[in-house]
Amino acid sequence: MTFEVITIFPDFFHSILEHGLLKRATASGQVTIRLHDLREYTDDRHHTVDDRPFGGGPGMVFKPEPLFRAVEALQGEAPERSLRVILLSPQGRLLTQAVAEELSHAERLVLICGRYEGVDERVTEHLACDEISIGDFVMSGGELPAAVVMETTIRLLPGVLGNEESCEQDSFAVPAGSSAAEAQGLLDCPHYTRPAEFRNWKVPEVLLSGDHEEIRQWRHRRALEKTWRRRPDLLAQVTLSEEDRRWLESLKGTEL
Ligand code: SAM
Repeated sequence: MTFEVITIFPDFFHSILEHGLLKRATASGQVTIRLHDLREYTDDRHHTVDDRPFGGGPGMVFKPEPLFRAVEALQGEAPERSLRVILLSPQGRLLTQAVAEELSHAERLVLICGRYEGVDERVTEHLACDEISIGDFVMSGGELPAAVVMETTIRLLPGVLGNEESCEQDSFAVPAGSSAAEAQGLLDCPHYTRPAEFRNWKVPEVLLSGDHEEIRQWRHRRALEKTWRRRPDLLAQVTLSEEDRRWLESLKGTEL
């Protein structure tokens, strides 16, 4: 999988590319991340990428020409590998685990990082095929959102995470067999490690029992309970068994 990141701050990514998952995935060749300086696609002496908004108002807007030039140059480099062009934007569809899962099937993703007041709307309408937001808040630039999209997507690629870090049990994991467009999964269950007792707080007995079926059931119930208490909106999107429903019913009226 290849990410083509278009930004006015390519150096911004150096640190995240030298650590953890992104470093491993790129070093092993499973993923290629290319950084493209938008200023290299300008045609004036000052490498101008922005201009004042028509109609007045504060801030600057990314001009369309350098962005179209950059994407068209990338497409021309490897016409047989189709590009999926994504504009990072607070107005885009929300990044969820299911959206990341969907992106993880793309071969070549272009991530356009905006700045200032954003980008000329013609980029949104005629160049990008998707707009993605990392949440209902506004950041100063698309670089951190692009890093979030890459990290979330790359960890879903087969073989990138080792068994120890498997993402199947993670919060929101789309259950096997569901379509990616489908809803999210549950929140993850609580985790504990040694010592079994810390400052008088004991690890739940069942986790020390060695009874795998009991442990599986306990984890599933805790995941259901956490989701019900913290993110009941997610429950509406999950297929619950009769037993799940009975368990949730039994929680009603209980204090935390
Ligand atoms: N004026 C724009 C608006 O209100 O919708 C906000 C522009 S923001 C200051 C500058 C750039 O940061 C955007 O073009 C986008 O690339 C990026 N950005 C900011 N918040 C984002 C978010 N929540 N998700 C994705 N990208 C974001």
